[in-house]
Amino acid sequence: MLSDAYDWIEQSLATIHKADWYRSVQTIQGRSGATVEIDGRSLVNFASNDYLGLASDDRLIQAAITATQKYGTGSTGSRLLSGHRELHRELECAIAALKQTEDALVFSSGYLANIGVISAIVGKRDLILSDQYNHSSLKSGAILSGATVIEYSHCDLASIQTHLQQRDRYRRCLIITDSVFSMDGDLCPLPELLDLAQQHNCMLLVDEAHATGVLGDGAGCVKHFGCIQRQLIQVGTLSKALGSLGGYVAGGKTLIDFLRNRAPSWIYTTALSPANTAAALAAIRIIQQEPERRQQLWRNIDELKLLLHQQLPHLKLLPSESAILCLLLPSPASALTAAHRLQDAGIFAPAIRPPTVPTSRIRISLMATHTFSHMKQLVDVLSAINIVSSKPARGDQQ
Ligand code: PMP
Repeated sequence: MLSDAYDWIEQSLATIHKADWYRSVQTIQGRSGATVEIDGRSLVNFASNDYLGLASDDRLIQAAITATQKYGTGSTGSRLLSGHRELHRELECAIAALKQTEDALVFSSGYLANIGVISAIVGKRDLILSDQYNHSSLKSGAILSGATVIEYSHCDLASIQTHLQQRDRYRRCLIITDSVFSMDGDLCPLPELLDLAQQHNCMLLVDEAHATGVLGDGAGCVKHFGCIQRQLIQVGTLSKALGSLGGYVAGGKTLIDFLRNRAPSWIYTTALSPANTAAALAAIRIIQQEPERRQQLWRNIDELKLLLHQQLPHLKLLPSESAILCLLLPSPASALTAAHRLQDAGIFAPAIRPPTVPTSRIRISLMATHTFSHMKQLVDVLSAINIVSSKPARGDQQ
């Protein structure tokens, strides 16, 4: 029996249920692609971040099998203590080449990359300016660093400028932002952020999780905005368009060398598995050699936007410049109902609700492997279930 000290857990869980914030997990049978099987039914999958469809590509699977046969399943320890395989460095060189940076360092997840890098480069005497809609891993890294953290209004340069008036009270200043916002699909104003950072002697860290493989010839938003030559720190994940698992930071040689000595979530954790390392390496080669995958993804994005506009002009979509399209709904309950009704009608698309976002929504994530008929099915089902969407509220991008 649990002692009284643990009773709060049940009460907290009840509060989560009462607020309609409870989340449960669905079991996918077999591989996850443009379609998935759930409860024995095939559904069109708009819930995956596997933007290029590489997570079930035979070449990635074969690379993972070969690496496992050669090196085993586990990496057996942290790289500083137990050594690494040539595969780890090969992947880091491939990431640096893709991003056109001097070097890169791979972490066991994007989350670990963000908390490790941020907490290594700033501390108690420093200031972090963070976009209010940043991913949780950036926010956690900021808290962990012990720096003073100020959230600025979403993509609002005037808001950043106001907070920068305090810059001189701190030793270092770091601006952190998603490049593609994960729950909205819009882009940060990267060139302007870089200008501000330069003017005020700040570092800028940009999270390319949803941009890598998708924008800027696959290199991400930094290339998309023509900012490759500018000084900044890029972080990202190997788990979305690269179809594997793991995270990375890309930047100058000195930065990477410093992080190998100072980032706790790199130093004190087991190296990325050989299978995931080899799969990510295979994915980078594919995205460089097969631009047609990315081009197909962008055709799909344009086609779905057009279909939605033609067939359902009354629906409120957040402005998006990525593979993430969000349909706003008036309440958490209506978003959940919409997701259930979509699923009943053969569409897998998640409801995203507060506290993750200010306004509830259905998040539609597109893949290069979706066909026109998948997208038509989505729009027909949305039309048949007669969703009433809401206007963007205060706090949403307009
Ligand atoms: N950054 C962003 C913007 C993300 O969306 C995510 C994953 N949802 C992460 C970081 C974390 O990446 P990973 O899943 O590799 O931990």
